[in-house]
Amino acid sequence: MHLRISGPTPLPPEVVAASAKPMIDPRSPESVAIFREITNDLKELLETTGDVFLMASTGTGGVEAAVSNVISPGEQVLNVSCGFFGDRVGDIAEAFGAKVQRLVFPDGDAADPKAVENALQQAPDTKVVMLTQHETWNGVVNPVEEIAAIARRANALVLVDAVSSLGAMPLRMDPWGVDVVASVSQKGLMSPPGLACVAVSERAWEHVERAKASRFYFDLRKAKRVFKYTGLSPWTPPVSLLYAVQAALRLMRAEGFANVFQRHDRVAALTRSRLAAANISLVARKPEWASNAVTAVYVPPTLKDIEGLLKLQREKYDVVFTGAQMKGKKPSLRIGHIGHVNERDMEIAIDLLDKSLREHGWDGQPYTV
Ligand code: PLP
Repeated sequence: MHLRISGPTPLPPEVVAASAKPMIDPRSPESVAIFREITNDLKELLETTGDVFLMASTGTGGVEAAVSNVISPGEQVLNVSCGFFGDRVGDIAEAFGAKVQRLVFPDGDAADPKAVENALQQAPDTKVVMLTQHETWNGVVNPVEEIAAIARRANALVLVDAVSSLGAMPLRMDPWGVDVVASVSQKGLMSPPGLACVAVSERAWEHVERAKASRFYFDLRKAKRVFKYTGLSPWTPPVSLLYAVQAALRLMRAEGFANVFQRHDRVAALTRSRLAAANISLVARKPEWASNAVTAVYVPPTLKDIEGLLKLQREKYDVVFTGAQMKGKKPSLRIGHIGHVNERDMEIAIDLLDKSLREHGWDGQPYTV
């Protein structure tokens, strides 16, 4: 099967084998060694000397852990969003009682740093700026480095949801001045779903210590204490997922993190050029906003039965994309090219996409939505 969704991604055979290893005592020295290896690899991948915490959770839990550990009810935060997942970071902050100012960009547009600067000038009490690095919903990447610099000048923390970007593109935490990052195992880290990670800069620790939002399972103060004394998480470490992520990071290390990013760059460029040649319209409005992890395309407006299209792709062509709806009810498909992927995979996927669209009634002509 050609699993071309935004995650979970296909697993390398080494990762499948690692996840099937026999169970061990999750609090054994072996478990501690795996925990340490993964934590150190993630620090290197994120270019940070801060702390990295691992927790059994999906990406949403990672983002919740990040948010709930740096805010207090009533505190002003700025949620910069260019799509569904960006909005959700703001929803989480609201659920924990923050006063959320929302700066929203339309599907297809990256966040504009100038607008972030204006928003912060109007709300000088803002304590945290929150955004996704990669908006998985529409395949757009935000200029994290520029936004982080602006937030720092305004004395606000920078919190990034990197659920669908970690491992697929650089996220240079310390050099860019990013304070808190949340991500998960099932995307760029080529592993099964369920292991979240949160990275915290030194500057952010002050906020973690004094944050008044409720937290228990995701309390990073406790995570830090327990890690210091045991080298593990406060709760039962998810051993099979740790084995999987360890194996995936070893593969990424062997390839070289920079080479992994370059491969994503090449694969995404090929995907976009094949789509352009096939007259299929991208959601990202500018090439520099298009992500190296996911490409979202508009479905030709003459095709109405999206469920039927997905079924045809799945059942006849053995390829799986994700259906999504952009604002204004514009049907689209998300094509994943993240993690364990190469150029050949995408040649096949785009051929199958083109074929299935035509079989479903598209005339192959350029279209606008
Ligand atoms: N944030 C982003 C950017 C995502 O892409 C996703 C899922 O795709 C999530 C958060 C939620 O992750 P999960 O479904 O693992 O909870």
